[in-house]
Amino acid sequence: MPKKTILCLGNNTKDTDNRATQLAELNDSVNFGLVSQENLNEQRVPGVYHTTIVDCSYQDIQRIIKEIDLLYVFDQTYDDKAVKHRTLEIAEMLSTEVEVQYENADNTSNYNYWSELVKDNKSFCIYPFIELMTQNGKTSVCCRSNVPVEDVENIIDWQTNEKYQHIRNKMIKGEKLHHCALCYKSEELGVASSRQLDTTMWAERLNLTSVEQLATINTPAYYEIRASNVCNLQCRTCGPQWSNQLDKEWKEIGLTSKDTTYGYTGFDIVKFDQLDINLKVLQNRTIKLPKVQETSTLKLIRCSQINLFDNSNCSSNFTIEILPTINRRLVLPLFLPALALICSLLLIKNKNSILLSNISIFAYSFLLLLFAELVIRYTGINKILNYIFILTPLLSSVISYYFLRYKFSNESY
Ligand code: SF4
Repeated sequence: MPKKTILCLGNNTKDTDNRATQLAELNDSVNFGLVSQENLNEQRVPGVYHTTIVDCSYQDIQRIIKEIDLLYVFDQTYDDKAVKHRTLEIAEMLSTEVEVQYENADNTSNYNYWSELVKDNKSFCIYPFIELMTQNGKTSVCCRSNVPVEDVENIIDWQTNEKYQHIRNKMIKGEKLHHCALCYKSEELGVASSRQLDTTMWAERLNLTSVEQLATINTPAYYEIRASNVCNLQCRTCGPQWSNQLDKEWKEIGLTSKDTTYGYTGFDIVKFDQLDINLKVLQNRTIKLPKVQETSTLKLIRCSQINLFDNSNCSSNFTIEILPTINRRLVLPLFLPALALICSLLLIKNKNSILLSNISIFAYSFLLLLFAELVIRYTGINKILNYIFILTPLLSSVISYYFLRYKFSNESY
């Protein structure tokens, strides 16, 4: 069987290349890679090629379509709704000139159902069936519409609400609504509108296969809650109804009339003056007292069991850790002179005993340090250990000092 020349249409160049390779392997063929404007005029041989609407326009694909036996359309992600819409639109237009196959025909036929619907019915849009949008106490059909539908307080049941039902019925009948003027305007100018793009996207996202199914949606699938148009930004893609900065600018340069008000000038929904929250009444498991390590030595002494000062502010748990911390700060430094004196034993010339060898002196110093670190943590719970810990550096300093004096005095210079 002669090999075909297949052109794959995807929506992401890298991903499309991988999928084209898989398709080529399945067909015992070769993936010849991307078709773009750079190699559009090259001669094509049987095999698999791929492109996207970003790499090639409709006119570009049309120019090479005679060399193609099959246009294979990969499944498109609905997140990239504009690319998907245009890709499927191009595939449909080319279907009169070349055989078109869809990777996921079921998905595509569902997509076609909704895109045909919004093409035939110039009023229908999915948003009033799936969305509740609020702005400053009013609702609207979607964020592209400034026309209020209902007071938020009157929305007892969004599905059966009379005004929403009226809008939905009109849309199903194909009667245009003044709420949706922006979308109609886009379509008149030949630009795909949100009505067209978002209807197919949401139908796919919610797995809807017919208009009748919309009646089963009894709570909004999508909420958009806007308190006001107060905003720090002035994005060029936005408008004065969403940004008070743009509202100001548009009025200054005459893009909108100075009398136009959008009515969304304050965060009326949020009562900031009532937001004086008393955090003290809240319970949590966070440590609210300062750690012992973060408390001054004087305060620690006050809280210690020495009771020299008022200790009424000290909790019982707090005092258990105090003595080790005081010892670490005040007694541990006393081990340094003791260690220095022990190390001075190395200066003795006449070391005729193994007890005065360099290794033994190193062992004394090491054991003293080890003792200090091990015992210090228990000084808060055992009084005897506490006394031993305090006396050790004092005694070892005194003993080392007098021993050194004795040894040095017997040495001849
Ligand atoms: S037609 Fe346009 S303005 Fe109307 S609800 Fe749909 S997206 Fe919004």
